[in-house]
Amino acid sequence: MVTKTALKPWPATLFAAFVLVLVSCAEVPVTGRNQLLLLSESDLNAMSFQGYRKFMATHPLSDDQQAAEMVRRVGRRIADAVERYLAARGKSHILQGYRWEFNLVEGKEMNAWCMPGGKVVVYTGLLPVVKNETGLAVVLGHEIAHAVARHGNERISQELALRLGGAALSTALSGASPVVAGILKQAYGLGADLGVLLPYSRVQETEADRLGLIFMAMAGYDPRAALDFWKRMLAAEKGPRPPELLSTHPSGRKRLENITRFLPEALKYYNGPVKPE
Ligand SMILES: [Zn+2]
Repeated sequence: MVTKTALKPWPATLFAAFVLVLVSCAEVPVTGRNQLLLLSESDLNAMSFQGYRKFMATHPLSDDQQAAEMVRRVGRRIADAVERYLAARGKSHILQGYRWEFNLVEGKEMNAWCMPGGKVVVYTGLLPVVKNETGLAVVLGHEIAHAVARHGNERISQELALRLGGAALSTALSGASPVVAGILKQAYGLGADLGVLLPYSRVQETEADRLGLIFMAMAGYDPRAALDFWKRMLAAEKGPRPPELLSTHPSGRKRLENITRFLPEALKYYNGPVKPE
């Protein structure tokens, strides 16, 4: 993803509201990268789901039933593959409370995004670049990767740590729950922006590219299609309306290099029974 919205200066108290449970350190599936997660997944997901519902209530779904069905089908297929992979490794808890949803929304934006807990939106403006089911799998693999790797939680946690610092953070963590609950209500009002509030970092974007290739491959989509897809995105970038999908992402050349580098790993998942890890 994917954002045009710069980080709004949230009051520290509002950030404190998000800190309900200290989870601290976690590990990203497959890549094994350590990450700081300060927010309770269930609280974050609850906010996310509410924000997503609000967004969906105010943005029209595409009336192209066939394309909408393709978005749902591809998304579900990749999410299922990831769930099977994690279940086989006794790690289903990672996706506990996720409620996958894949919607095609009417809009000129060449864009797609995913909110915490598995709430995905693809804009119809992206379809010409996506071109076919495998192209769509590149996009959805990437967005699903952001969700599975809990990049939203991590990003907000990083901001929290940055803004509150040690002492304020520990106060917030031990804060009286009625206060937290009150502020949380306020936070719900921001729900619609939650998915686009904090741009992902380069590290997260590159990780989503790597995991996205693996996830699409697990679902039976040829990850080599990613090179063609990103080349089409780059070509679109030179057009009159640069794709939003590129705005927060690694530069085109670098991305193609990364994808070329990540492909051999992803192809192991595509080509047959994989037992990495
Ligand atoms: Zn992304």
